Amino acid sequence: MPKVHNFSAGPCILPNEVFQKSAESILNFNNSGLSLIEISHRSKDFVEVMEEARKLVKEILEVPETHDVLFLQGGASLGFLMSAYNLMGTHKTGGYLVTGAWAKKAAKEASFMGNSLIVDSSEDKNFNYIPKDYEIGDNLDYFHVTSNNTIFGTQIKNFYKGNIPLACDMSSDIFSRKIDVKNFDLIYAGAQKNMGPAGTTLYIFNKDILGKSSVPIPTMLDLKTHSDKDSMFNTPPVFAVYASMLTLKWLQNNGGLDSIEKQNEKKADLIYNQIDNSSLFKGTANLEDRSTMNVTFTLENDDLNETFNTMLSDAKINGLKGHRSVGGFRASMYNAMPIESVQLLVDVMKELETKKG
Ligand SMILES: *Cc1c(COP(=O)(O)O)cnc(C)c1O
Repeated sequence: MPKVHNFSAGPCILPNEVFQKSAESILNFNNSGLSLIEISHRSKDFVEVMEEARKLVKEILEVPETHDVLFLQGGASLGFLMSAYNLMGTHKTGGYLVTGAWAKKAAKEASFMGNSLIVDSSEDKNFNYIPKDYEIGDNLDYFHVTSNNTIFGTQIKNFYKGNIPLACDMSSDIFSRKIDVKNFDLIYAGAQKNMGPAGTTLYIFNKDILGKSSVPIPTMLDLKTHSDKDSMFNTPPVFAVYASMLTLKWLQNNGGLDSIEKQNEKKADLIYNQIDNSSLFKGTANLEDRSTMNVTFTLENDDLNETFNTMLSDAKINGLKGHRSVGGFRASMYNAMPIESVQLLVDVMKELETKKG
């Protein structure tokens, strides 16, 4: 059991062995007597780390040969811009499914080199659902979606399948469940939600898209630049890549996506059942769109917030404050969150129910 139960939305909990091993690497990497962060990124030892990290992504997600895997910088926020640059085609138009604050930010970036078209949006109900009845015209170069809406607690369960190339910001649920990578032309994800520390961003994309953009792309924003150099065009964020590699190894050693998907569903069921059977708590997301990663809920009676917060801090439960745009509470339960911590949270919710329900 962890000493503090960290339900933060990101940066977030990682497996303890990753904290241990990555901390050791700062002092003495691979028994070399040197620190991971002082050696050359061109050294054999670091090139092996980068190659292992890319290989683990390919193995765990069963990435097809058509696709390449890179660890770059800039966060998912730069991914908003990079995805638009690299996918802009003859229509000079990207289509966006606006399902939350991050999706909205992604849509904005396309307007720097083309047109940004909102295909559908759930902003009318403060993003508490995933729109499904939208129609996509054939005047789009790509269609961009956000798989998991970290702030609002919704998640896409069925991805678009069609002729328009699909781009996806998977920052907050990558490696949480199985996905069919071949259906995506481009996936990107900031590491710090479910893969590692902040500082690196994962890109997975169909190599067919490279060199096809209809707009000139600045060197560092061109995926081809990095793909041609095996993710080593310039100095990579070595520590973030190393710790991500360790997390991926941990995931693979623990049964990969089959196993983690089941565990994530179990954890989500535990807390959603408690919310659904409660007279005090209320979930904020539409039932069928609820996220297994971020569970958003409120106390119907605001007067109980203080009592609940005190109970949480007594139980050493951390990071449950909801995002200011939703209010209430948000329990983020990324891969490394043990089910025991979720059970503890549910027990505290039950206790409040007994006291005040
Ligand atoms: C956190 C988050 C981002 C922003 O990531 P940065 O790496 O901080 O730029 C983008 N999209 C989603 C879905 C997120 O959860």
